[in-house]
Amino acid sequence: MITGIAAKNQTKNSSSFTSSVWQRALASAVRDPFELIRLLELEGQGAEVSLEAARQFRLLAPHSYVRRMKKGDWNDPLLRQVLPLSAEIQLTQGFVSDPVGDHEAMVTDGVLHKYQGRVLLVTTGACAIHCRYCFRRHFPYSEANPARDHWKEALDYIASNPEITEVLLSGGDPLTLSDERLSNLCERLAAIEHVQRIRLHTRLPIVLPERIDERLLTGLSQLKKQVIMVIHANHAHEFQDAEVQAGLKALREIGVLLLNQTVLLRGVNDNVPALAALSEALVAANVMPYYLHILDRVQGAAHFEVPEAEAKALVAALRLQVPGYMVPQLVREVAGEGAKTPL
Ligand SMILES: *Cc1c(COP(=O)(O)O)cnc(C)c1O
Ligand code: SF4
Repeated sequence: MITGIAAKNQTKNSSSFTSSVWQRALASAVRDPFELIRLLELEGQGAEVSLEAARQFRLLAPHSYVRRMKKGDWNDPLLRQVLPLSAEIQLTQGFVSDPVGDHEAMVTDGVLHKYQGRVLLVTTGACAIHCRYCFRRHFPYSEANPARDHWKEALDYIASNPEITEVLLSGGDPLTLSDERLSNLCERLAAIEHVQRIRLHTRLPIVLPERIDERLLTGLSQLKKQVIMVIHANHAHEFQDAEVQAGLKALREIGVLLLNQTVLLRGVNDNVPALAALSEALVAANVMPYYLHILDRVQGAAHFEVPEAEAKALVAALRLQVPGYMVPQLVREVAGEGAKTPL
């Protein structure tokens, strides 16, 4: 069922001045709920699709990702991550716009310094997919734009703090930056002596595998510092794509350490078989399970929440089914804490 305002005729990004295969794939991603419904041959009233929710945070899903969804299934775990539902409009007590205290932790434009030894750089507001549960969906990207001065303030901050040994590139998604901008940023970070590791937090290897192309691989392999990539996979079905597998293999072959973090999501991966299959798929792709996050209580995402007690029971049951290295750490992000809080 469709509720809310009439669909806006959303214009697609022009691809006339972009050239890479991945940029064209991103430009042609699905942005219209009706198109998604048609592509997946969804019928009847399987879910309360909301155009108002899509107006507040628009639908975005690359075709490669959509092809991994099961046709005709409103409950497909990949579809659930991107489909705008009327449940998002409902205000729920305790669900706020900045649940993890990012505003407080912002030391300069787009630089979050919460934990010892590492800083997080909000490199862009852009993503290749819009995850309905995203805790940054209300983030004021235009106010926190470190690219405004060509990263100068952010780089100055890092350069003048010798305790910073690791820089996390986040966003949005750092791999939506062009190769020019990404390599410019990475090279300048790598030039800071005390920075030992550059860590990219990205969903693109999963949702837009075209992004892992020769130019990116060459750029990353030339960096003089260790590169870590934390992919954000939530379900084993996300690996059912030869290009995803090939991209991860290529990253591994240039020496990138691959880790995964998952958000525990109602209706997506909130059962032991789904979590076990995800861990199996990760390890088969040489990606180590790292974190399993309790959902951040962001407005509009309450219907994805799995209560803490249930989450703990799921992980305890998972531990009995898979090798220890396949069990991610269950954590919650608590505003003001010096690290993620293990549960
Ligand atoms: C999550 C997070 C990190 C990284 O934490 P790790 O436990 O090292 O993965 C760093 N900075 C910020 C602001 C974060 O939110
Ligand atoms: S890719 Fe990450 S930042 Fe972007 S919408 Fe999804 S969860 Fe949020």
